[in-house]
Amino acid sequence: MRLILLGPPGAGKGTQAARLVEKYGIPQLSTGDMLRAAVKAGTPVGLKAKAVMESGGLVSDEIVIGIIKDRIKEADAAKGFILDGFPRTVAQAEALTALLAAEKMNLDAVVELKVDEKALMARIENRARETVAAGGTVRADDNPESFKIRLDAYREQTAPVSAYYAKIGELKTVDGMAPIDAVTAAINGVLAG
Ligand code: ADP
Repeated sequence: MRLILLGPPGAGKGTQAARLVEKYGIPQLSTGDMLRAAVKAGTPVGLKAKAVMESGGLVSDEIVIGIIKDRIKEADAAKGFILDGFPRTVAQAEALTALLAAEKMNLDAVVELKVDEKALMARIENRARETVAAGGTVRADDNPESFKIRLDAYREQTAPVSAYYAKIGELKTVDGMAPIDAVTAAINGVLAG
């Protein structure tokens, strides 16, 4: 199973990806998680990505495409993977199409979580509160200023990715405003159907 999860920041991609990991026994490939790990480790990629990530902007296509190109070839991804947070621009989507073709890998589905924009900031604030309550550290980009930039980046650069997959007939849309279990059920439904 090779799957892409699309949706704005705070749509619940990570939550649903974790459930799909369980169900299908395939890894979640989150470019956000990989970039945060690179920042933490202070790698060359991390050093380049840190400031732009904190501000809420997008890291360069070149960097993220490079990360994904290597990652999908790793052994644990041989049976499939769930892409979360990638592709985020049409250029990344085109690069992915080429990468998959070169590896003779097909895509099973692209699932978009549709969420009311007004609900997103509240979800991010809630995530920050829960993180603090659990004794964790709030993400550097989970604040109102960065979030607004993330949402703008989504609208301007990532929304066209949905159109890209709709045009090639691969896009499935799920209501991301429903309760978590209902969203999971809806995703399972589109994957089965
Ligand atoms: P969100 O919760 O907003 O969906 P992620 O954890 O997926 O955020 O990503 C956090 C940040 O990492 C993004 O705001 C961006 O700076 C960077 N990033 C992650 N994936 C990509 C990508 N595919 N292209 C460019 N930048 C990315």
